[in-house]
Amino acid sequence: MRDPEKLEAETWLVSAGRPEAAGEPLNTPLVVASTFRYGADRGYSRNEGSPTWESLETIVGGLEGGEALSFSSGMAAIAAALDLVPVGGEIVYPDDCYQGVATHLAKGASQGRWTVRQLPAEDTEGWLAAVDSAAMLWLESPSNPLLAIGDIAGICAVARDSTTLVAVDNTFATPLNQRPLERGADVVVHSATKYIGGHSDLLCGIAVARSPEHAEQIRLSRVIQGATPGAMEVFLATRGIRTLAVRLRTAEAHALELAKRLQAHPSVIVTRYPGLADHPGHALAAQQLDGFGSMISFDLVDAGAADLACERMQLVEHATSLGSVESTIERRATTPGQEHLPPGLLRMSVGIEAVEDLWADIEQAIAP
Ligand SMILES: *Cc1c(COP(=O)(O)O)cnc(C)c1O
Repeated sequence: MRDPEKLEAETWLVSAGRPEAAGEPLNTPLVVASTFRYGADRGYSRNEGSPTWESLETIVGGLEGGEALSFSSGMAAIAAALDLVPVGGEIVYPDDCYQGVATHLAKGASQGRWTVRQLPAEDTEGWLAAVDSAAMLWLESPSNPLLAIGDIAGICAVARDSTTLVAVDNTFATPLNQRPLERGADVVVHSATKYIGGHSDLLCGIAVARSPEHAEQIRLSRVIQGATPGAMEVFLATRGIRTLAVRLRTAEAHALELAKRLQAHPSVIVTRYPGLADHPGHALAAQQLDGFGSMISFDLVDAGAADLACERMQLVEHATSLGSVESTIERRATTPGQEHLPPGLLRMSVGIEAVEDLWADIEQAIAP
């Protein structure tokens, strides 16, 4: 067995989770089976999983440093992680975070499943003070779409001595740029739909737990709620993650260049990218992340200017979602539940196209 401790992450991504016996295929086959012959430890795939899922789980679990479980979507993985919260427990979550999480938390609160409270990601003192009362701290850093940076290690250092669980949505950072379990978090979730899949052609989620007990509870949620991934989706996500390092390094180099040019452009009011020296979370991001990622948000003067820019884009796709080889852009305040965002805020996921082609497209689109 290959050992994640002895290999660089880039090597692990390529070499882990493959069949190893002589005569076997190099790639884990797409196993399309709901049931397996009795006599070994795998019976029904909703319960015991499938070899196809296990490849992806080995790769991501090895990188994150925990036990990974694949799900039908990021939201399914998130719902399973939230099942760890005891009935009536308090969940503290960031005031800027993935809208699906905010909606799920509000729904659960209205049904009496848990109570909720929001804090700004950067308010480390507030998060530390919440450790005493909270059952779970839900962190997302960098956050969606304001790219705020929370102090994951600082918060985990305090939460670790309590019964409070720390869960981190690591979708924007990817397991290549940030490994919260190493910093003391209990659970990490990913929308593998995004950077892990990397091609906008699948829905998949992953939850990773540091302790075998939490992993077992998350597995049980998957078994009883049935939020299992499709074999084809996991096969594609595994194929996608093999190239995560080259995709991400290229996209984030382009993102830094574009962020600098946006910042200097007269049509742009503010540019948010953690790799910019004047981003409020830059120093913390530099410590906590192995790369600044490929998400940028920037504001044009108003909704009209932002809508016009989206319409004018020729190369950058006007579409939601992120983390793919192609660049996408959207005006985020059009997302239900995100009407509070600056009306001219554009969220861009930078892809791997040539950076000068991207800039030429953006420049013509945002011209006054
Ligand atoms: C997309 C996304 C999710 C939800 O994932 P799905 O695969 O769409 O269910 C959760 N968190 C973040 C940060 C995301 O970007």
